Amino acid sequence: MSRFITRFAPSPTGYLHRGHAFSALTAHAAARTAGGRFLLRVEDIDLTRRRPEFEAAIYEDLAWLGLGWETPARRQSEHLADYAGALGELEARGLIYRCFRTRKEIAEEIGRAPHGAMEVFRGGPLPAAEEARRLEAGEAFAWRLSLTAAEAALEGFERLTFAEEGEGPNGEHGAIRARPELGGDVVLARKDVGVAYHLAVTFDDALQGVTHVIRGQDLFEATHVQRLLQALFGWPAPTYRHHRLLTGPDGKRYAKRDRAETLRELKAGGMTAAALRRELGVD
Ligand code: GLU
Repeated sequence: MSRFITRFAPSPTGYLHRGHAFSALTAHAAARTAGGRFLLRVEDIDLTRRRPEFEAAIYEDLAWLGLGWETPARRQSEHLADYAGALGELEARGLIYRCFRTRKEIAEEIGRAPHGAMEVFRGGPLPAAEEARRLEAGEAFAWRLSLTAAEAALEGFERLTFAEEGEGPNGEHGAIRARPELGGDVVLARKDVGVAYHLAVTFDDALQGVTHVIRGQDLFEATHVQRLLQALFGWPAPTYRHHRLLTGPDGKRYAKRDRAETLRELKAGGMTAAALRRELGVD
């Protein structure tokens, strides 16, 4: 068996729709072509939005599509202590800082920034006495990656690149220079759960030996900071294959928040998995 490992990593915060089916089928077909492995990972760290029925539907819908995966699927919520360990390492190296700001305060700070429409947040730790006072008062905080500290640790981001075998939203392909500064000081641990998406996803890709990350173009921009985390931890960099996003008849991409027709609805409406695979052009 070749050393090709890819994964489909849905979040159980809604039912799967055509876009998910396309992504899962694409990754699955790539693993088959390469004689490699296909993993399913349930990214259920958003404890307020995840729901057991959405998770159950992931297994059911993927099986309906005709996909097989290695079991048991990794469920991120069962590994919070591992992510906390990784976060602790970053803390010990001075690469993260506590952020007590509320969403509203951050929006206001960004609004005051000299560049106007700046969307990224960069800050730093509070003065020690102020931080101690807030900790004492039991105020909640998130952990943010310090781009300034990360840049110093790596002596600049110039040599940070990733291989894109698919295509980013602007046709990016080939060796791409990672530009984590575009994302600002991202949150690596949310106030409520103690971890956040970028940390969990890179930790798991490394732990599971994922060699190829195959996912939608909507996550292309996330790769910049994910590549930075891999470099900081000394984890291998997977190859990326971002794929186009499916669009519906209205020309808009399918998304949970627009109530895109779910796979369950398609199935209930009499669609067969074979017909859907044909429609999506992946078999
Ligand atoms: N869990 C993420 C999502 O559902 C995908 C993570 C990834 O593929 O990197 O959007």
